[in-house]
Amino acid sequence: MNLHEFQAKQLLAQYGVPVPPAEVCETPEAARSVAESLFSKGESLVVVKSQIHAGGRGKGTFKTGFQGGVKLCKTADDVFDKAKAMLGNVLVTKQTGPEGRLVNKIMVAGAPQIKKELYCAVLLDRSISRPIVMASTEGGMDIEEVAATHPEKILREPIDPSLGLMPYQGRKLAVALGLKGDLIAAGAKVFAGLYKTWWESDASMLEINPLCIITGRDGKESLVAIDAKMSVDDNALYRHANIQAMRDLGEEAPLEIEASKHALNYIKLDGNIACLVNGAGLAMATMDIIQHFGGLPANFLDVGGGASKDQVTAAFRIILSDPNVKGILVNIFGGIMQCDIIASGIVAAAQETRLSIPLVVRLEGNNVKLGKQILLDSGLPIISGDSMADAARQVVEAVSQLKNG
Ligand code: ADP
Ligand code: MG
Repeated sequence: MNLHEFQAKQLLAQYGVPVPPAEVCETPEAARSVAESLFSKGESLVVVKSQIHAGGRGKGTFKTGFQGGVKLCKTADDVFDKAKAMLGNVLVTKQTGPEGRLVNKIMVAGAPQIKKELYCAVLLDRSISRPIVMASTEGGMDIEEVAATHPEKILREPIDPSLGLMPYQGRKLAVALGLKGDLIAAGAKVFAGLYKTWWESDASMLEINPLCIITGRDGKESLVAIDAKMSVDDNALYRHANIQAMRDLGEEAPLEIEASKHALNYIKLDGNIACLVNGAGLAMATMDIIQHFGGLPANFLDVGGGASKDQVTAAFRIILSDPNVKGILVNIFGGIMQCDIIASGIVAAAQETRLSIPLVVRLEGNNVKLGKQILLDSGLPIISGDSMADAARQVVEAVSQLKNG
C-alpha cells in the first residue's frame, strides 16, 4: 500500500525526522487559512503540493495546461490561486502515465530556504537479503537517472536486521554526504529515524528526496525532509491500524479495491485472457502457460485455498468488468478447495453475468467428478480442459478464433 507524502511525513516526524510545518487541505479556502497561519508564525515562503501517489509532481503538468504540481507562494492569496488551479484537476507526471491522477488533496507547508538537496532511502536489497540505506549528494533529481549516469554517486549501506542501523553507520553516511560540524550528528539522527520508520512500519520502501540542508532565520543550518515517499507491505498491514487508516481508495485501481473487499488477490494486467486460479503459485504458472501458447493474461487472480461460492461469483464479476477480457481460463486444483463449490460458483456467475465469451475450465482434485457434473448439467457452453496445457491451448485458440472470425 502506498502512502501520501503528508502521511509518510507524519510517520517520519514521529521517529524524530524534522519536517516543515504543514497541513493537508481539500479546498482553496482552507489552503488560504493554513497559509495565513504559517505566514503569521514567521514563514516567508509557503509551498502548495499536490498529494497523489506518484512522484515527479514538481515537473508535472495539469490537463488544464497549468504547470507544476508543487508551487512556491509569497502570499496567502497566491496559495488560494494555486490551490484552486490544482484541486479537482488531473496532474500528469513522469510516474502517473498519460492518464494522470486527480488531485483531491493538497499540502500547504512552510518552504524554508534550501541550501542543498540530498537523497536518502531505505529498501530491501533482495540480492543480499538485507535492508540497505541509500544516500546521495544528488538530491531532488530522479534517482534512476543518477544510478544510470553516476552510479558512484549513490552510497549503499547494508543493515544487519538483527541490529538495526548502528549509530556509526548513520555518522558514516552523514560524513560521506559531505555534512560538516553539527550537521553530522543531525544527519546521523535523520538516518536513525528514517530506518526506524521503515522498520517499525513494515515498509517496503521509504524515500526522502530531497532531504535538504536549510538555512534558518537565525542563519543556522539544519536538515529537513522536504519530500517523502513510502510504501508499506500489504501482508503486514494488519499489525498497523494507524497505517491502515491512511489508505486512500481514490488512488487505487477500482477493480483491485473490489477484489480486496472479497479477500481476493487480484492484479489487473494488460492482456485479454482472464484467469481464475486457486493458489498464488498456480496462478503464476497459469499466466506463464497462457503466454507459452501465445496468449496474454488479463490478470493475476488467486481466489485462495478455501474460496466460497460468493467469492467465486465476485471473482467472475471482477474479471468480466475488464473490457479487454475476451476469454476466461479457470484452473483449479482442489486440494483444500472442493471442485463442486468452484463449479457452482462458475455456473452462478456465468448465469448472473450472461457470459458470452469462451470459458475454459480445468478442474482437478477433491470432488472433481461432482464438479464436472455440475458444469455439464448447467447447459452452459463451457469448454473442459483435460490438463493445464490443454486448457491453456484451448482458451488461446478460442480467443484467437474470435479475433479472426
Ligand atoms: P516531486 O518529487 O513529486 O517533484 P518534491 O516534494 O520533491 O516533489 O518537490 C519538487 C521540488 O520542489 C523539490 O526538489 C524542491 O526543490 C521544491 N520544494 C518542494 N517542497 C518544498 C519546500 N517545502 N520548500 C522549498 N522547496 C520545496
Ligand atoms: Mg521529490
